[in-house]
This record gives sequence, structure tokens and C-alpha cells, in this order.
Amino acid sequence: MSDQKIENVIIIGSGPAGLTSAIYSSRARLEPLMIEGEEAGGQLMITTEVENYPGFDHGITGPELIAIMRKQAERFGTRFITRNVTKVDFSSRPFKVWIGNDLHQAKTVIISTGASAKLLGLPSEKQYMSRGVSACATCDGAFFRNVEVAVVGGGDTAMEEANFLTRFASKVYLMHRSENFRASKIMLDRARKNPKIEFVMNTTVEEVLGDGKSVNALKLKNTKTNEVFEKPIQGLFIAIGHQPNTKLFNGMLDMNEAGYLKTKPGTTYTNIEGVFAAGDVQDPIYRQAITAAGTGCMAAIDSERWLEANEAH
Ligand code: NDP
Repeated sequence: MSDQKIENVIIIGSGPAGLTSAIYSSRARLEPLMIEGEEAGGQLMITTEVENYPGFDHGITGPELIAIMRKQAERFGTRFITRNVTKVDFSSRPFKVWIGNDLHQAKTVIISTGASAKLLGLPSEKQYMSRGVSACATCDGAFFRNVEVAVVGGGDTAMEEANFLTRFASKVYLMHRSENFRASKIMLDRARKNPKIEFVMNTTVEEVLGDGKSVNALKLKNTKTNEVFEKPIQGLFIAIGHQPNTKLFNGMLDMNEAGYLKTKPGTTYTNIEGVFAAGDVQDPIYRQAITAAGTGCMAAIDSERWLEANEAH
């Protein structure tokens, strides 16, 4: 089925980047169509307390923050489709975006499909997510004051998160499945010099243990001896990398080697004029709700100015 209407802007993805784009685009009377996905809201939906988003002095939960942003976008006329995009074609204009057999066409597209933290794949990890298990030390570190926590991973993210967590936790165990680190030497050395960090090498997390409400230990396995043992801890931070959600755009948009969309520095322009990218899908470094919202605003302004310059609306 083809929807004959050609939209000014289709926004794909509904985290803080997409919703901020929607607020700006709809206020500019561009009547954006947001395809929000079946798991709308992005990573904030699995974050309990957000204490560092400006404007909420007492903090706010991730799902509440998303609900407010969505209402704000709706107020100015954003239309939402709660399904997943299955295919796109940006090779000719208007751009084409499919949801199954339904075709939607647009003069500009804002991509804000985000990134997902890689997880270990344990059922217990899911069970305790936001109740002791986290994939973001910046977001959740402050909830672990004076307790012992663990970080899993051997890259720069793991080193950075472990160092950051020593501001709060009484002790941080850095658990890595081998003895070879992907982390840069400087980050590794910094973590090694930190007296609150203890390295636990050749170790995998087999299970997260708790009382159903919060985490109290990890079941671990030594990969060399196969010995299984338990370690009491109150928090587990998974820092084994992020995966940008860019599969849909393979071969169409320029990406870096990790799959993040490339944007022209200082803008949200991708390599295809009229297609913009905002939020974590193009940001391997900051990955914060506020930076995502900031680039979402940029994308809306870039798209509006592009439409104006091209007299396309
Ligand atoms: P990386 O891919 O560099 O490292 C991932 C780590 O997680 C590896 O040690 C890997 O182990 C381990 N790992 C992966 N999957 C599993 C699993 N299933 N179980 C246990 N361990 C697992 O990701 P990062 O997020 O650390 O870094 C991504 C990029 O961002 C890098 O380029 C990094 O330099 C950059 N970055 C830079 C920072 C800075 O400069 N300030 C801060 C943070 C990130 P193994 O090696 O065995 O595969």
C-alpha cells in the first residue's frame, strides 16, 4: 500500500533525539511523521532515575521523561506510527520508507534510531536491569554509594566506567574474560593505578544473583580453570560495547567501522542531502539524553533550512 502524501519530514526513532526533532519540526509547522518503533522511547525506557537531565531538579524516571517529550511533540501536531521501519530507499527523491508493505515518502528524513548497549545475554541480567544491573555508569553510578560493584569488559568504556564508579562505590571489580585488553594503554594504566579498582581476569559472569528485588552477588567462572565461584557485589555494570541501530542503512549511508552513521562535523548532515542523523546513532562518544536531544534539535533545524533552501515545501 502506498501513502500518496509526500511528507516534509519523516523521523525514524523516538528517543530524546527523535522526539526533540519532532518538537522543533512540528512547531515549525512541518507536520512531521514519526515512526517510533514497536519498542518506542529508546534506552531511557530502561533507565529508572534520570538525575542529570537539566530542568528536573528532583530527577525524573526515563519513561516519564519520554512521555513528557512525546506529549510535547504531539501538542504541535506530530503524527506517530508505532511500528518498525523495515526498509528504506534514499537513492532517489522523494525518499522512501517502508513499514512492511506500507510505503511512506518524504522530502527529508531524520534518523534517530539510537544505539543499544550490548548485553551478556543472561536471563538474570534482564531480570535485574535497573535493579542493580546497568549499562551506563554515568546514568546510574550515583545510586551505588559505599557499596561494592563490578564492571564487565576490557575496552575503554569498561576502564572509564570503572574509574568513574570509584567516586561512589567503595570498591570496583573490573572483570574481563581474558588477559588481553582492547582498552588504550593510558586508560588501562589509569584504572590499574586506581587503588579502589581490583582486576579480576579470565573471568566470565555466568549469572546475576539476588533476592528478586536487588542484586547481591555474581556467579563467576574462571575461563582457565573452569572453577565456578560467587562474589558478593551490589551492582553490575556491563561495559562490553554498544551497537548502533543502523542495519537498515547498510550500503546507503556512510558509517564508521563500528557502524555509527557519519555526519558532517558540526551538523547533522549525512552523505545524502536531505537525510539527517541525530542522537546515539551518530555518537559513539557522549551518548547522553541531553546530547541526543541537542543533536535532535540540530537535525530539525538542518532539515527545515534544507527544505527552505530547496523550496521543497
Ligand atoms: P570495545 O569493543 O573496545 O571493547 C569491548 C570489550 O568488551 C572487550 O574487552 C571485549 O572482550 C568485551 N566483551 C565483548 N563482548 C563480551 C561478552 N559477551 N562477554 C564479556 N566480555 C565481552 O568497546 P568499548 O565500548 O570499550 O569501546 C568502543 C569504542 O569507543 C572504542 O573505539 C573505544 O576506544 C572508544 N571509547 C573511547 C573512550 C575514550 O577515549 N574516552 C571511552 C569509551 C570508549 P574481548 O576483547 O575479549 O572481545
